[in-house]
Amino acid sequence: MSTALFENIVFGPVSSRRLGVSLGVNLLPQHGKLCNFNCIYCECGWNEERRGDNVLPSFEQVALALESRLEEFSSEGKPLDTITFSGNGEPTLHPDFPRIIEKTIELRDRYFPASKVSVLSNATRVWKKEVREALMKVDNPILKLDSPDIEVVQAVNRPQGEYSIETVIEGMEAFKGDFILQTIFFQGSGHDMTDDGRVRRWYDIVRRVKPREIMMYTIDRDTPQKGLSKVSVEEMQRIAAPLEEEGFTVQIRG
Ligand code: SF4
Repeated sequence: MSTALFENIVFGPVSSRRLGVSLGVNLLPQHGKLCNFNCIYCECGWNEERRGDNVLPSFEQVALALESRLEEFSSEGKPLDTITFSGNGEPTLHPDFPRIIEKTIELRDRYFPASKVSVLSNATRVWKKEVREALMKVDNPILKLDSPDIEVVQAVNRPQGEYSIETVIEGMEAFKGDFILQTIFFQGSGHDMTDDGRVRRWYDIVRRVKPREIMMYTIDRDTPQKGLSKVSVEEMQRIAAPLEEEGFTVQIRG
């Protein structure tokens, strides 16, 4: 098995317990990857192996592709629970991200008003007002913070440029709790994301940014860095327990 790319602007539908029937939107290159992280667990592979295509779809192409799928779903009476921005990299890097979100909400309201719009983001650009405001308009802004320790972020997420955990935390605080925090847990290759001290420091960040939900997950598919292993659901439940006792909602995906 190898890491893989999404080859359409709109892909799916994909069914999941959490998001129901979801159509994915890829704002990144169709045959390459564009991300300002280069996570050792990225299902799209290493950035350096995915540079063949760096062409982003235009606003018009995204709007057309999304509208035609929504029209098709609507006319065929198919169900749709969520429109999810994920794909081959970091969606907020698209220069028209705010405009695309506005258009998506307009199309959602027209074709599937009961469905949700979700964005999976690495949160590196929440400091940017227009990106943050666009993320605040969607139903589910799902923002990543994998570790409270910069040396772990540098080794695991491998930011391509400046990165400050404090800046990300301050950006998250601006959501006033109305976002979903996403954190991965795995072991191997010299990393233990379940280390007690690290988990305690992560709790402190959770208490500070107060997400309405915490999404804990582990490795699911092949990863570019070999030797990484899953953390069990039971172990993640053990880590989640103190936060749940404090009233946080935690969702675990094993
Ligand atoms: S942030 Fe997401 S897309 Fe970017 S490298 Fe990490 S896992 Fe891959």
